[in-house]
Amino acid sequence: MILLDLEHKAIARLQESAKLSEFYYQKPLLLAYSGGKDSEVCLELCRRAGVPFEVIHNLTTADAPETVYHVRKVFRRLELEGVKWEILHPRYKGQPTSMWTLIPQKCLPPIRSQRWCCQILKEGRGKNRCVVLGVRSAESQNRSDTGVAELYGRTRANRQVFDFDNGDERIISPCQRKATIKIHPIVDWRDRDVWQFLQDAKVDINPCYSMGFRRVGCVGCPMAGKSRYTEFRQWPKFENLYRKAFARMVEERKARGKPCQWKNADDVFRWWMEDKNLDGQMDLWGGEIGGGT
Ligand code: SF4
Repeated sequence: MILLDLEHKAIARLQESAKLSEFYYQKPLLLAYSGGKDSEVCLELCRRAGVPFEVIHNLTTADAPETVYHVRKVFRRLELEGVKWEILHPRYKGQPTSMWTLIPQKCLPPIRSQRWCCQILKEGRGKNRCVVLGVRSAESQNRSDTGVAELYGRTRANRQVFDFDNGDERIISPCQRKATIKIHPIVDWRDRDVWQFLQDAKVDINPCYSMGFRRVGCVGCPMAGKSRYTEFRQWPKFENLYRKAFARMVEERKARGKPCQWKNADDVFRWWMEDKNLDGQMDLWGGEIGGGT
């Protein structure tokens, strides 16, 4: 499909979702903006669709400084455009938290098979809303069966996928219950469509991409695999933060009488960077997600 058709289709999806959101939730669409390329496309499409929308960004506390500055810049523009936005600080068990306090608390660093971090650090106020996400099926095998519209499920297996483009009426029932509906307007876009769109639209993108990074997520995200070495060369303070958190984690494991294969932070760091990981990440809305975009 040519890019213009993809754009029209995505805009039509947003316009239909905005009607659902207004009718059933009495609220505008809520765009979850990460600062990555896919959410950048969704933001521009929301503008072009002419629909009312609000934007949230979840601070993970492990974002690259360039991402934090970029998000602030984008949100200053949203302010001028009169779009309501919010930057959400993470909380855990009712308290403010961060990646660095969570690692000892969880007694485990984030690893591919246990990405507890996304659920906590990326959890925003998307409950009981129509949430727009820049998820694409071409991103990974895990996402290949992503639908345009999905109903929250505790696991990927028990989510409900709707044939949104063909007027699937089953979506009405969760909307009436005001359950969280995830809308993926660019689910069928390939990487090259995303880049072409951003270039044509002259969108100012996150500078991390021009620094050579292919994805934007937390620095040190286990999903980044070996490119974490490059990340830590670029942002060495983050390696120090992880190492300090690992040292506290080892002490915590010992204090709790948990088995501990590591003697110190160096041991944990080496094990963690080996990246012998598995897939299966959950996002707060119950879908599998990558560590960044
Ligand atoms: S982007 Fe990666 S490190 Fe950050 S919260 Fe998600 S899985 Fe965890």
